[in-house]
Amino acid sequence: MRAFTYERARTPAAAAAAVAANKGAKFIAGGTNLLDLMKLEIETPTHLVDVQDLGLDRIEETKDGGLRIGTLVSNTALASDRRVRKDYGVLTRAIVAGASGQLRNKATTGGNLLQRTRCPYFYDTNQACNKRRPGSGCAAIGGVNRQLGVIGTSDACIATHPSDMAVALRVLDASVETVDAGGKTRSIPVAEFHRLPGDTPHVENALQPGELITAVTLPAPIGGSHFYHKVRDRASYAFALVSVAAVLNADGSGRVAFGGVAPKPWRVKAADAQLPAGAGAAARAAFAGARPTHENAFKITLAERTLAALIAENRA
Ligand code: SF4
Repeated sequence: MRAFTYERARTPAAAAAAVAANKGAKFIAGGTNLLDLMKLEIETPTHLVDVQDLGLDRIEETKDGGLRIGTLVSNTALASDRRVRKDYGVLTRAIVAGASGQLRNKATTGGNLLQRTRCPYFYDTNQACNKRRPGSGCAAIGGVNRQLGVIGTSDACIATHPSDMAVALRVLDASVETVDAGGKTRSIPVAEFHRLPGDTPHVENALQPGELITAVTLPAPIGGSHFYHKVRDRASYAFALVSVAAVLNADGSGRVAFGGVAPKPWRVKAADAQLPAGAGAAARAAFAGARPTHENAFKITLAERTLAALIAENRA
């Protein structure tokens, strides 16, 4: 691990200003991903700004009937919140499908959105990786890529986003609240928060330098039956081959988003519209334009069949 300096910020705007003023600085909260990346020297910040004292650890009801989740609310606290379990079951299910109990106790809401890909070549500093070292190439294309993306990818990067929580937030149409170095706040729909790789896979989200996530906001409850099903190579503590977050109504209408298939939580409104026609029609709409590799085309079939199982469960 490279040497770094450290400070604890006192206000969100001060934290943002401290990172904006120092090109080598990064925020740290739970550290469940960043510390691993620092040990491997994939991330080499020269300064860490600790945001754990900012008091952003509450879940509050909003005026329009939704919830505002402070960025420092742990994954465990969020999944177990009575209001979340009652009205946003897809979120609870997605969170408990991720990581381990110990990690969920430490991992934060904002940090979960910002975790980096688990592409194995990203973690091997001997390999070419445009995300880790822009312009160096992509060892995964033509390499072992069974776990990687089938849609939304580019010739520069085929990595997937690893978060389960973000897939549920996408199906719920959540928003991300931020503050910048000047104290200015803004709200970014989760749909627009994560970026597709294009030619710049190292740019992963809509945040500007120093911009700090302060909260995630859920709209008023949408009803329906909530499902999150994650298919993986072992029963626990593994990232998704495919996951499906769905909110389904009795008449077959609803919403669906997919994880483990793209560089961001994958939701296509045309797929929502096709849900009453069945999983095949919805999956065809969701994966139109997919570019799977020779190793991972199975993910599209797996996604369709997982969705079909959820639709059958909803009808039962
Ligand atoms: Fe790097 Fe993306 Fe290629 Fe993986 S898929 S090696 S993260 S550029």
